[in-house]
Amino acid sequence: MSEKYMKEYEAGYTPKLVMEEASRCLLCHDAPCSKACPAGTDPAKFIRSVRFRNFKGAAETVRINNILGAICARVCPTERYCQQGCSRSGIDKPIDIGRIQRYVTDFEDAMKMDILEKKPLNGKKVTVVGSGPAGLSVAGLLASEGYIVKVYEKEAKAGGYLRYGIPEYRLPSTVVDKEIKRIQKIGVEILLNTPVEDLESLKKENDAVVVAVGHSKGKMLPMFAGKHFVKTAVDFLHDVKRKKGNVKVPENVLVIGGGDVAMDTVTTLRLLGVKQVTDVVYETFDEFKASKKELQGAQDEHVSIIDGYVPVALKGKKVVFNHRFIPAKLEVKADLIILAVGQYTEAGLLGLEVDKLQQVTNAKGNLFVCGDVSPSGEKTVVYAVRSAKETAYAVKKYLGGK
Ligand SMILES: Cc1cc2nc3c(=O)[nH]c(=O)nc-3n(C[C@H](O)[C@H](O)[C@H](O)COP(=O)(O)OP(=O)(O)OC[C@H]3O[C@@H](n4cnc5c(N)ncnc54)[C@H](O)[C@@H]3O)c2cc1C
Ligand code: SF4
Repeated sequence: MSEKYMKEYEAGYTPKLVMEEASRCLLCHDAPCSKACPAGTDPAKFIRSVRFRNFKGAAETVRINNILGAICARVCPTERYCQQGCSRSGIDKPIDIGRIQRYVTDFEDAMKMDILEKKPLNGKKVTVVGSGPAGLSVAGLLASEGYIVKVYEKEAKAGGYLRYGIPEYRLPSTVVDKEIKRIQKIGVEILLNTPVEDLESLKKENDAVVVAVGHSKGKMLPMFAGKHFVKTAVDFLHDVKRKKGNVKVPENVLVIGGGDVAMDTVTTLRLLGVKQVTDVVYETFDEFKASKKELQGAQDEHVSIIDGYVPVALKGKKVVFNHRFIPAKLEVKADLIILAVGQYTEAGLLGLEVDKLQQVTNAKGNLFVCGDVSPSGEKTVVYAVRSAKETAYAVKKYLGGK
């Protein structure tokens, strides 16, 4: 049942194909791709290195600029960032920057390169709460600067949504494991199964504390609350990833939601062999939130996607929907209903104030926030890396570093 789910969906480049793709690059001056990367990975520079067969140099550029380079290579919605402004689009199609980056980081791994360096310890202690991409990145960046860094993680494994959200066929756990090992190798200590409940004592015991707890809970709509046949998408995806696809799912599943998390859910269901997967979406197709790539993946798996409907009632296991603009009604019966209608943070449990966008608003003194809970822009992995760079800089400045 789990074989298709466990196999990486998109094949990596061969040496011949990566050279062909890199040779399409126009080697732009003041390259739009490099300006558009939120984390400053500098694709123009590493693609130039690939063009000259300098894979080592390319790997160094990626890793030094983006501490989660192998992960971003796989999951970054590049069509929204670096590839969007790619000058090659005017000729035929943009350079596949993500896939070149994947080749380069696979090379780094195969050659067992150790690119991240560490300065001598400076005696200052920083604790990070949460080991998602933001927590891991800020911890790694500060450790490389000589800070003594500990990460507290409530789950049994580190990685946040890299570990328990993004499905295996898009981001293999082995890739996440290797990225985490690189960060541990430069001195970051990760304490698992260790939920933080009391921020005040952590603030007293450390020179600085960074909260990177993410938006780790899925939203439930009131009409579905307490029903045993209803789950949130993040709980479902967590369960599937943890059990390596070995889960029991009924043959007829309804998913409600139209963002990337919904697309991951419906595609996962189909890869697990579920026969009937229906996705009902609030937005109409022209308003769709999911990335084109993810939507295409779901359509390739023959998911029925119905747009423009809002759920209004639950009758047994049947959901009644009304169309948002026309007087049309839809009824869908399913044995399992999965809600992909957004995530929220539990940062409030730590005594922090949270706004409507689920961002912490009252971090001050030696307390910093990073990743999805910070006002850092979009809620993606590459923005988590960018936020980590900004937070590491702010911590260093606060602690009098250069
Ligand atoms: C299903 C899914 C698919 C996605 N796909 C993509 C994608 O393809 N590309 C992309 O760029 N982005 C994607 N995203 C978004 C991306 O994963 C997030 O923006 C990113 O993970 C945010 O990073 P973070 O470190 O802020 O938070 P998280 O990844 O949520 O990590 C937070 C961590 O903090 C821990 N934690 C929480 N509270 C405590 C506590 N009190 N004590 C200790 N630890 C605690 C949590 O257990 C978790 O490990 C996806 C998200 C989901 C849900
Ligand atoms: S914008 Fe496109 S063509 Fe120009 S350097 Fe970047 S990848 Fe190459």
